[in-house]
Amino acid sequence: MDLNFTPDEVAFRQEVRDFVADNLPADIRHKVINGLLLQSEDYVRWQKILHAKGWGGPGWRKEFGGPGWTPTQQYIFDEECAAAGAPRAIPFGLKMVAPVIMQYGSPAQQQRFLPKILSADEWWCQGYSEPGAGSDLASLKTRAVREGDHYVVNGQKTWTTQGQYADWIFCLVRTDTEAKPQRGISFLLIDMKTPGITVRPIITMDGAHEVNEVWFENVRVPVENLVGEENAGWTYAKFLLGHERTNIAGIGIAKRELARLKRIATLETKHGKPLIKDPMFAARIAQVEIDLTALEITNLRVLSAEAERRAPGPEASILKIKGTEIQQAITELLVQVVGTYALPLRRDAMAAGYQGDPVGPFYAIPLAANYLNMRKLSIYGGSNEIQKNIIAQMILGL
Ligand SMILES: Cc1cc2nc3c(=O)[nH]c(=O)nc-3n(C[C@H](O)[C@H](O)[C@H](O)COP(=O)(O)OP(=O)(O)OC[C@H]3O[C@@H](n4cnc5c(N)ncnc54)[C@H](O)[C@@H]3O)c2cc1C
Repeated sequence: MDLNFTPDEVAFRQEVRDFVADNLPADIRHKVINGLLLQSEDYVRWQKILHAKGWGGPGWRKEFGGPGWTPTQQYIFDEECAAAGAPRAIPFGLKMVAPVIMQYGSPAQQQRFLPKILSADEWWCQGYSEPGAGSDLASLKTRAVREGDHYVVNGQKTWTTQGQYADWIFCLVRTDTEAKPQRGISFLLIDMKTPGITVRPIITMDGAHEVNEVWFENVRVPVENLVGEENAGWTYAKFLLGHERTNIAGIGIAKRELARLKRIATLETKHGKPLIKDPMFAARIAQVEIDLTALEITNLRVLSAEAERRAPGPEASILKIKGTEIQQAITELLVQVVGTYALPLRRDAMAAGYQGDPVGPFYAIPLAANYLNMRKLSIYGGSNEIQKNIIAQMILGL
C-alpha cells in the first residue's frame, strides 16, 4: 500500500489548482468562503465552467463525456475545489442518477438524460425517502400501477433536497405489493412538470428552504422512463447509495472550514489576546485537526485499496461517521469562537451584498445558521447509527 501521490498526481493537483484559481468566479468564491447563501444559478454557472473544460463529471467514464479520472484524481479534484471555495457539485444528477443510467439505463435513456446532467441544463432531485421509510427504505409505499404504456403514480416523498428547482426526480416506487418489500420496487424517472405533482417546502431549523415534500396524485409516467426491469429497482437503489457514499468524508471541506476557524480565532480575543493563543481553545482546535489528519490517512488507504482494484467496502461507513463528526465539531467551534455574536439567526444578512447593520463582525453572520444546518450531515446519506450497524456487522463481525 502506497499512500504517497505519484508525480503525475502531484502535477494533476497543480493543474486543477491553477484552473480553479483562474476560472472560479470571485462572487461565488466569496459566498462559499464566508458561508453566505448560494443561489441555484451559482451551482449551474460553476458546473457549466467545469463542463466547458471537460471536467463536468469527475467520476464519469470517457464514453459518457467524463474525463475518465481515477478515484485518486477525483479525490484531488474535490480537495482542490473545496480549498479554493468552489461550490460542491449538486450530487443528485451527476453522482447519483447518472451512474445508475450509465449502468442500467437503456441507450435511449443514456442519450436523452446524460448530456443535460453534464451541462447542468437539467436539475435532478432524489425521491427515495417517505414519511415512515427513511432508514427502513424498503418499506416505501408510493405506488405505481401500470396502465397501458404509462405508470400511474400516487404517494408522497419527503426531505427532497432542492426539489423546488428540479426538472426531474428519480423515484423508488412500489410496483408489486404482494412480493417481499425489496422485490416489489421499481426505479422511475419522472418529469417534475407532469400534472399531479405538488412540491411543498419544509423550512428547517436554520430557516432555510432546502428540503421539500413531493406529492404525486395520479401522475402519468411513460413506461420508457422505467430504468432497467420492473421490480428490480432495489438493486439499482443500492448501487446508487454506494455512489452516494464515495468521497463522503468531506476532507477538503473540513480543511477549508478549519482554516476559517483559525482565521476567526486569530481575530477574536480573550483577555486582550487572540483566542487562538488561549491554551484551552487551541487544544480543541488541535484535537479536531488531529482527527482530520487521521481521517485523511484512512481516506488515502481506501483510495489506495481502490487503486489496487479492491472494491470499496464497509470502510466507507468509517469515513462517513468520522467525516461528519469532524465537520459538525468545526461548526460547533465556529459558533463558540465568536461567543454571543453567534446567537442571532439572521438569514437576511447571509445574502451576499447585504447592506444592513449586522450584530457583530461580518464573519459571525452565518455561523449560527451553518451550525444548525450541518446537523443534517449525520442523518442523510445513511444515518450515522445505521453506519455503526454496518461496521458492527461487516467489520467487527457482531
Ligand atoms: C437535510 C436532509 C436532506 C435530505 N435529502 C433527501 C433527499 O434529497 N432525498 C431523499 O430521498 N431523502 C433525503 N433525506 C432523507 C434521509 O435519507 C433520511 O432522513 C434518513 O435516511 C433517515 O431516515 P428518517 O429521517 O426517516 O429517520 P428514521 O429512519 O426514522 O430514523 C430515526 C432515528 O432512528 C435511528 N435508527 C433508525 N433505524 C435504526 C437502526 N436499525 N439501528 C439504529 N438506529 C436506527 C436513526 O439513525 C435516526 O437517528 C434527507 C434528510 C435530511 C435531514
